[in-house]
Amino acid sequence: MSDARALWDAAAEGMAPEVRQALQLKGVQALLAWVKERSPMQRERLAQVDPAAVRSLADFAALVPLSTKDDLRAAMDRVGSALPHLCVPREDIVLSGPSAGTSGRQTYQAFDAHDLDRNVELAARLFWCSGMRPGDVLQMLVTPFTPAADIFRLGAQRAGAQWIIRDNHEPAQVPRYVEVARSLKPTFLQAGVATLRAMAQHAAATPEGGALPYRRAILMGAALGAEAREQFRQTLGIEVTTLSGQGSDFNLFSTECPAHDGEHWHGEDMTLVEVIDPATGAPAHEGDVGEMVITDFYRHATPHVRWRTEDMVRVHPGVCSCGRTSRRFTLLDRLANRVPVRGSAVYPFQVETALSRSDDGRNLEFALVRRAVEPQTLEVRLLRPATLAADATAGVMQRLQRHLDAELKLPTQVSFHDDLPRVGYKTVRVLDEPRN
Ligand SMILES: [Zn+2]
Repeated sequence: MSDARALWDAAAEGMAPEVRQALQLKGVQALLAWVKERSPMQRERLAQVDPAAVRSLADFAALVPLSTKDDLRAAMDRVGSALPHLCVPREDIVLSGPSAGTSGRQTYQAFDAHDLDRNVELAARLFWCSGMRPGDVLQMLVTPFTPAADIFRLGAQRAGAQWIIRDNHEPAQVPRYVEVARSLKPTFLQAGVATLRAMAQHAAATPEGGALPYRRAILMGAALGAEAREQFRQTLGIEVTTLSGQGSDFNLFSTECPAHDGEHWHGEDMTLVEVIDPATGAPAHEGDVGEMVITDFYRHATPHVRWRTEDMVRVHPGVCSCGRTSRRFTLLDRLANRVPVRGSAVYPFQVETALSRSDDGRNLEFALVRRAVEPQTLEVRLLRPATLAADATAGVMQRLQRHLDAELKLPTQVSFHDDLPRVGYKTVRVLDEPRN
């Protein structure tokens, strides 16, 4: 196989949509029978569902109930097991671990050898789509303890990166990441958006200056405006693509292709992705924002059946110029990140987009404050850039406040902070504070 090929697996990624839908229908039919026979949790949840009655994907959506992380937690209690959704014998498990969830009680997932192979294949597609090629040296800054970390490493190896420099992603370790990058000269970075921003700032403040060795980067964990991506290209020489859906509960990875017209669901021949109206559960209208719902029918060990991700997405219309026929979407936000203000609501992705359109605010990390009593003003806290002179702060703050007022069409209150709370590589985008 030539390294010049555009798609990792042209047969799967360029499949005609109707062929893919037929695969999906067979997949979900087989999955229903599989989980009802093997998982105590699913046998109970799907007691009323007759797999033989599911003759179309519309039947599947109409007859099979949605499931949530809380359903899984409740089943853990009822069944008395951390893996009430397990459908294979324990001795078949080759990989397992906690989800990287940041709230609530820990949940777990498991993979048998088949699941792992398929998920690694999905990861190889995404690395290839993001421009990784044999000979690339990958510096991988991800949560080390989740199954996703293993899958990313194996997927990058399958795509041809033999040398992988692994690390965690802790705010205090940013100087080490920069030092390692300068010393070992990796060509490809996988990290959180906040981590690359912090690395670029740290590098700029050192005597060696701001250069980082990467040719390309996959960034995770937050929306990225087009202008912010362009700034990485111009100031650091790094081609950036975003990755979402890395939530280790389902590992349906997706990334942008060179067309940068949304992220491709790389595994649509192995999974069914639905977009629903979160209020009613009905399919979202074409072009509307909706919640992403996953059925990963390729998995044997702990598959998800109509699993609500709480991620809001907008599906992009039309066919992509890259040759992939999978649908594309933009991940807008977590449902939980809604911040009510002045009788309306703001989501962090709107603030990211607005900041990206400003020379002062581009690639600044931020958090929004959510109050118990709905305020009239949106409070936006920005992480002070290391390079911002103290006497320039007030002027920049005023300019940004005017810019955000105009972009968001509501009054904002902007302030700079030397630190913002983070969880792993993510800045906590919404801070709940009781007092007004
Ligand atoms: Zn594409």
